[in-house]
Formats: sequence, C-alpha cells, structure tokens
Amino acid sequence: MAEDTIFDKIIAKESPAKIVYEDDDIIAFNDINPKAPIHVLVIPKNKIESFNELDNLKIEIVGCYFKGIAKVAKKLGLSNNGYRIVFNCGRHANQTVNYIHAHILGGRPMTWPPG
Ligand code: 5GP
Repeated sequence: MAEDTIFDKIIAKESPAKIVYEDDDIIAFNDINPKAPIHVLVIPKNKIESFNELDNLKIEIVGCYFKGIAKVAKKLGLSNNGYRIVFNCGRHANQTVNYIHAHILGGRPMTWPPG
C-alpha cells in the first residue's frame, strides 16, 4: 500500500487547500507555488499514483478524470484564451508528489518548449 501524500490529506480535509471545484470523482485546488496567474491541480478522489498507471485502468475511470479536468478548466474561465495541461510523470519530469495530478496553467501566454 502506497504511503499517504499531501494530496491524500487534502482530499481527507486533513490539510488545508483552496479548493476551486469538487464533486464525487475529483477535487481541484490552487497550487501552493503557482507558476501562472491561474495554477490549479486536479486529482481523482480514487488514488492513482502516476500517469504510468492509466493504461491499466478501466476507460470509464480515465475518461471520468479527463472530463473532470476539462470541466475545471472551463469553470476557471480559461476556454476562450486557452491554457496548458501538464502531467509530470516520474523522475525525469520531476514528479514530486506520488499522486496523479493535472496542472492546469492559464491566465498568461505560455512559451514552448517547456524546460
Ligand atoms: P509535481 O512537481 O509533482 O508535478 O507537482 C506537485 C505540485 O504540488 C507542485 O506544483 C507544488 O507546488 C504542489 N504542492 C506541493 N505541496 C502542496 C500543498 O501542500 N498544497 C498545494 N496546494 N500544493 C502543493
């Protein structure tokens, strides 16, 4: 069994976070160290540790998570100007929390490529 992360504690309401959206399946909250005017993390309530696990899951679970991410981006008012979704996966991408999370970054033009 994987160790609890800070995101497990945010879901359990044991650690504070500025929650911007929540339903039965996902929770979205402001990143504590924002890299854009809008920087929200979206996580599924049923734990998935990283992007690597997605191909082992039922399509309904993956689809539900991705639909939730799109819904949050829309609720944040980012649809018109656009936004970036980032999943850091593993060591080379500097994933620091072992609980899958989509970064939604918006509110300014983005550059490419990412570092
Ligand atoms: P990663 O580098 O794993 O893709 O991203 C982890 C993200 O979680 C980072 O952007 C970091 O700022 C954010 N983070 C880490 N600890 C906390 C916390 O306690 N609360 C919130 N809201 N965000 C956190």
